[in-house]
Amino acid sequence: MHNDIEKTLITEEEIAAKCEELGQQLTKEYEERFPLAVGVLKGALPFMSDVLRHIHTYLEMDFMDVSSYDGGTRSSGEVKIVKDLDTKVEGRDLLIIEDIIDSGLTLSYLVDLFKYRKANSIKIVTLLDKPLGRTSHIKADMVGFEVPNEFVVGYGLDYQERYRNLPYIGVLKPEIYGGDEA
Ligand code: 5GP
Ligand code: MG
Ligand code: MG
Repeated sequence: MHNDIEKTLITEEEIAAKCEELGQQLTKEYEERFPLAVGVLKGALPFMSDVLRHIHTYLEMDFMDVSSYDGGTRSSGEVKIVKDLDTKVEGRDLLIIEDIIDSGLTLSYLVDLFKYRKANSIKIVTLLDKPLGRTSHIKADMVGFEVPNEFVVGYGLDYQERYRNLPYIGVLKPEIYGGDEA
């Protein structure tokens, strides 16, 4: 598996330090509140798990699974709900936790949905941001790292459902994905 990686973009240690830093900021942000942390499956799982352990205030967790990518490296441009929240959103302070914002399509869909469901507030924390990929207006409130317009894998991010368990973020060798650049 590690042999498929051309280069490491962000190391395990850098990710761990960033989770701690973001967690401290989020602790301040949500003191005295009871936010609903919404993880976007499956990619956000490792990040959510690590960052939440640095938020030292009461919170509730729930998960959404939406898909806009069909296994490959390009967005299908379509967002569909694969798994909805179990929790009522009305009046809640939502913290959406994402692995990466590329086009922003997924998040703009989610933000519209949660506004429609009358959330009290909506904030977005994303581990990675690819500003060059953006085709919608969405902006994260907190970003771990900006990454170049390359298809990255690891720490939750997959290529054809593989590599989510890599502890770091890297770029695949072109021969692995046939040069189909994101
Ligand atoms: P967006 O809707 O912002 O274009 O993309 C959202 C989703 O596409 C992300 O949550 C992620 O699952 C997937 N995605 C976007 N860019 C990348 C990338 O570079 N690598 C991987 N593995 N997935 C990506
Ligand atoms: Mg995602
Ligand atoms: Mg994917």
